[in-house]
Parts: sequence; C-alpha cells; structure tokens
Amino acid sequence: MTSHDTHFYKLVYYRSDATSYPFVWWPKSLPICSTCGRILVEDVKRIELRIYRTGRHGFVEALLNDEFWPIFRDDVVRLWLDCGFTGFFTRPVHIVGWAKKRRPIPDQLPAYHALFVTGRARDTRAAVVGRCEGCGLERSDVVARDGMRVDTASWNGSDFLSMSGTKRLDVCTRRVAEATLRAGYRQIAFVRAEQWRTWDERASLAEEQQYYITQAEDL
Ligand SMILES: [Zn+2]
Repeated sequence: MTSHDTHFYKLVYYRSDATSYPFVWWPKSLPICSTCGRILVEDVKRIELRIYRTGRHGFVEALLNDEFWPIFRDDVVRLWLDCGFTGFFTRPVHIVGWAKKRRPIPDQLPAYHALFVTGRARDTRAAVVGRCEGCGLERSDVVARDGMRVDTASWNGSDFLSMSGTKRLDVCTRRVAEATLRAGYRQIAFVRAEQWRTWDERASLAEEQQYYITQAEDL
C-alpha cells in the first residue's frame, strides 16, 4: 500500500508549540478500573474542568487537557455531525473555574464537548493478549511507535476509531480530515496513520510539523 492509498489519519490537536494554547485540568480524582488501574474517563458523570492557562492563541478548535482527552469546540462537533460522521458521541464540558487561581473565568468562553469514540479497529500488528476482567478492555501487545496500521478487516466502518479500545480518538477516516481542513480550521492538522510517530523521539517541533497535513489537497 502506498501512502496515497491511506484512508486513515491521526488528528493533531495543535500545529504550534503546545504552551501557546489554553490548557485545562480534569478533577484530581477520576474513576479508575480497580483491576487494571485505567482511568475511566467515560464514567465521569459531569465533566467539570479548570483552566490552567489560556495561551496566546485563545480558545481554538481543540481544548488541550491533562488527560490528553479529545475535546473540541462546538462548531467542530457540529460540522462532524452535519457531515454524518459515525463512531463517536459527545458530552458537554463545563469550565468551572481556574486550577490555581481565584479569578472569574473568561467572558464568552466557547462551548466545548468531550469526544468519546465508539468505532473500533485493530492494528494489523496487534496480537490480543487478554481482556481486563474489571473494565473489559482488550489488551494487545501493539507497538506504541512506528505508525498505526488499521486492520481494515477489524474496522467497523466508523469514521472515528479507537485502536486502544479506551474510547480515545486514535485515527479518523480521510473524509473527516478532508471536511475539517476544508472548513478552514487553522490549528488542527492530520498525519497519515502509518506515519504517526515514525519521526525520531528527539525530533524538533519543526521536524515533526513536516508530517502535518494542513490542506485538504495534500491528504
Ligand atoms: Zn480494567
């Protein structure tokens, strides 16, 4: 398969230095699987987050957070729903204050939603080694680097996919990448799934950015 046959992309939440974006904190105590110790973000009943910093870019498309959970602004989620994309549901995010300061939250804060991915696929290289008896998560011995290779035989056809089985967003389809880039968003980028983190671990942001696709024509 050549790179032009790629159908899956990793969504990159920001194109510049991470510290130049707003960053929010989840509560200190989150539900945890008593068997495997995994944080069960999907079990959080009401998502109340606190602002750690605002950053010079302002409240852009994705909201960075200390769980690295996919959180997107209302207009982005609306676009994806209007396009009929599948494999996810969302829950509203409530910004309830600051993490370390006592001051009012900024005026006209946009609405954000946490994304929970229901679409599933496996990596072609993953061997399933067991299942957590507590939370049911399938454990596999897939490598963390050297790209993500979607085993299309295990793909349920969804546009948003978790390959870890944790409801985290791992990859999305080309049509998600295309619609999002065509909408003109300036901070989200996409990387071909099989190229994800194939760069050196010590790569600079500039080197990493060479993998970012920011125009629909380049998908
Ligand atoms: Zn578990």
